Amino acid sequence: MPEKIILLNDLRSPLLPVPAAPDAPTGLLSDALGRPLHDLRISVTDRCNFRCVYCMPKEVFDKDYAYLPHSELLSFEEITRVARLFIAHGVEKIRLTGGEPLLRKNLERLVGMLRALPTPSGRPLDLTLTTNGSLLARKARALKDAGLDRVTVSLDALDDAVFRRMNDVDFAVADVLHGLDAAHEAGLGPIKVNMVVKRGTNEDQILPMARHFKGSPFILRFIEYMDVGASNGWNMVDVIPSAEVIRRIGAELPLAPVAANYTGETAARWRYLDGGGEVGVISSVTQAFCQDCTRMRLSTEGKLYTCLFATQGHDLRTLLRKERSDAEILGAVAQLWRGRTDRYSEQRTVDTSGLARGKKVEMSYIGG
Ligand code: SF4
Repeated sequence: MPEKIILLNDLRSPLLPVPAAPDAPTGLLSDALGRPLHDLRISVTDRCNFRCVYCMPKEVFDKDYAYLPHSELLSFEEITRVARLFIAHGVEKIRLTGGEPLLRKNLERLVGMLRALPTPSGRPLDLTLTTNGSLLARKARALKDAGLDRVTVSLDALDDAVFRRMNDVDFAVADVLHGLDAAHEAGLGPIKVNMVVKRGTNEDQILPMARHFKGSPFILRFIEYMDVGASNGWNMVDVIPSAEVIRRIGAELPLAPVAANYTGETAARWRYLDGGGEVGVISSVTQAFCQDCTRMRLSTEGKLYTCLFATQGHDLRTLLRKERSDAEILGAVAQLWRGRTDRYSEQRTVDTSGLARGKKVEMSYIGG
């Protein structure tokens, strides 16, 4: 019986310090490596109805796992206030994540509150959501009507047996595909499909997935298996480099590289030479993209993380609940971002000396 891993729900988060004289936001905030704050990923729940082996393995996230009580979660009003302040600092894209965000009751109400937020540039906020698709068929229309722009759906295999093994809750591929169709019919888009590739687990699904989504309204992206959190037993030998994924697909379905849509886009884009659309690869392990990383993460209980692989968060909720002013919170966020030097993926393989020691926060806690 493997040793039981006890996860600390990140009790080590210091209070976010408020600068003595916070300066007013300018709509452009750069970190210590010159990267602008542009994206905010908001986790709205630490719960999920899947137990994906590379994210929330069952032996850790079992029936005794201590999930956050509802009173600890940020309310929709608190989340919207935080979003409004981040938008003042230049955030133009908000991604709702989890756990599984569609498990949070009345999520469309939050979507409507965020949709109503103006941006300094006057451009509409880019409002998106990452989901495992299990509840999408039921929720797609309401989310679209509330103002959601698009969705990213995780699907790690087309073969039902492989998929059921990977989500570890016996959930069927057909139900996720049904959710995708419902999202498309509701007018959400572009819709992306993310597949995490793990050697010896689902690598035989690379070509079937590519064939299935080629020529469809959905953009398939392959994600390199990552050492997120402290519970998935990650090992480099289980990583299939994106270059190998592209080579395997290209051998049957010729591809050509395409320029990024914008600076900071995590996926490298490739198009089918026969006009069958595009496919992407997200290569955090073998082709790090930290130099353009413009993302801050907010956990479901109000902690800020400057990197997916952080070992420590910063407690913002206390400032919210102690009724600190907008100016104070804007100053605290600016100070945190200006001091940011994270580039974990670049350091991971090259020089691990600069890497923070200690347990990395779980992806299911702050969203991918
Ligand atoms: S490893 Fe951290 S800094 Fe690098 S791209 Fe990912 S979140 Fe950004």
